[in-house]
Amino acid sequence: MSQITDDIAREILDGQEILFPSVEVWSRLIAEQGLLDDMTVVTAENSHWFSGTLEIVGAHEDLDLGLFRFPIGNSWTPVVVARRGEWNQRVQIHNLRCESCGWTGLVGNPCYWELSIGAPEKEEALNRAFALPLFECPDCSAPFEVRIFWVSPHPEGE
Ligand SMILES: [Zn+2]
Repeated sequence: MSQITDDIAREILDGQEILFPSVEVWSRLIAEQGLLDDMTVVTAENSHWFSGTLEIVGAHEDLDLGLFRFPIGNSWTPVVVARRGEWNQRVQIHNLRCESCGWTGLVGNPCYWELSIGAPEKEEALNRAFALPLFECPDCSAPFEVRIFWVSPHPEGE
């Protein structure tokens, strides 16, 4: 393991610092299971998640994979940040399927309190998320019971 300190952008979101390593630094963090500020980022257990998430983030210019300090213990928590113009929002990326027409897409769901744990402005972040309208299928307008901040423009979530 090696200590990695170079080429990391830092940004304040929801009153909390988020680190955004470059793709090269991410690759090293995964390959070497490296440390950031003496804290483990990628382990054997989560390296598969990191690789898969980086692939999605790398394919979308408006997504970034960052890290924030978990308030308890000594660890980094990864988080995907979606940038939509009006504001940036932490999101959980998952697949969504329309039961009416079969549309399937990759979406960014902001309605999880875990996304901004420890952030001074976490309530504001959640309020923004829950103020979003309920999502409608892009193909047939069928309503979903979820609020979505980001939708992949690529079909089938690829
Ligand atoms: Zn549909």
